[in-house]
Amino acid sequence: MTIVSIGCTAGAITLSGVEIHFGEGRHAVRAVAGIDLRIERGEFISMLGPSGCGKSTILGAIAGFTPASRGEVCVEGERITAPGPDRAVVFQQHTLFPWKTVANNVEFGLKMRGVPRAERRKTARDILRHIGLGDFLEHYPHQLSGGMQQRVALARVLVNRPHVLLMDEPFGAVDPITRARLQHELLRIQGELRKTIIFVTHDIDEAIMLGDRIAILREGGVLAQYDTPEEILTHPADSFVERFIGSDRGIKLLALRRLDELELAPLDGTPPDRLPTAQGATTLRDAVSLMITAGSRELVVVNGDESARGVVTLDMLAELDQGETR
Ligand code: ADP
Ligand code: MG
Repeated sequence: MTIVSIGCTAGAITLSGVEIHFGEGRHAVRAVAGIDLRIERGEFISMLGPSGCGKSTILGAIAGFTPASRGEVCVEGERITAPGPDRAVVFQQHTLFPWKTVANNVEFGLKMRGVPRAERRKTARDILRHIGLGDFLEHYPHQLSGGMQQRVALARVLVNRPHVLLMDEPFGAVDPITRARLQHELLRIQGELRKTIIFVTHDIDEAIMLGDRIAILREGGVLAQYDTPEEILTHPADSFVERFIGSDRGIKLLALRRLDELELAPLDGTPPDRLPTAQGATTLRDAVSLMITAGSRELVVVNGDESARGVVTLDMLAELDQGETR
């Protein structure tokens, strides 16, 4: 039975009782099992879950590639029946044209829409500069690193000014350092552009770091929990979510907060040289790690000019109110 409980409303993406089946009869697969989801305009949603739980299928339904077998998908009050320029998709395997330069790849969508040459050149150049690729306009994709290729792929969809970005494990194929850089880059771009983003990943840390809210799916295309990272970490809805986010969720919670947010203990005189130091933007998780590697129960929080601001201790972190972790 499908319960259409959310409805098509402006200012949001809505999935109401969405079921998606593939195949017929004995070979039928239910990829998505009656999902209700509402994503507000400008929100960054991480969609998280094990392989095969329906993440890509849901993204495909919002993109308009895959029709819902039951229920409806709406974007800004319009029922989705086909792909449209308001929604852009970025895949793990970028789909750049290998025979076109970076600039021509980015211009492609504008060219298709008949934008005059000079104007599309300028738009492509501006956006590539903006994402730090201003020096690579005439390079070909194979001359760039995997991370740079992914940034070109992002520029190529942003140039069409979509309202919604649908990203399917876009950083899944790059090394961890590049991945961290791309995550920060995406958050910076999102801070400026405020798109509605649905970001599919099976990496819990990536989902926590990026999402305003996280939609966790389980096998069979069932929505297990849809909430803020804090709420999911402190109050996992059931044993599946609890297992999926891992037994180190206390540590993961520390990654959501920064030294800046703490009331620091005062310094008594000059701190001894051997104490570890960190700037205020450091996460509490990294601060704990620094203390453990330095064999210290204390850490000095410093300003940009290395002057000391105060002290944080392991005891202070252990006593933090983490929203009553169950
Ligand atoms: P995820 O992205 O979470 O790994 P998918 O959405 O790709 O999962 O797949 C969900 C389920 O639907 C899987 O069992 C998959 O085999 C099945 N599936 C996906 N696409 C198709 C298709 N085009 N035809 C048949 N089965 C499909
Ligand atoms: Mg997938």
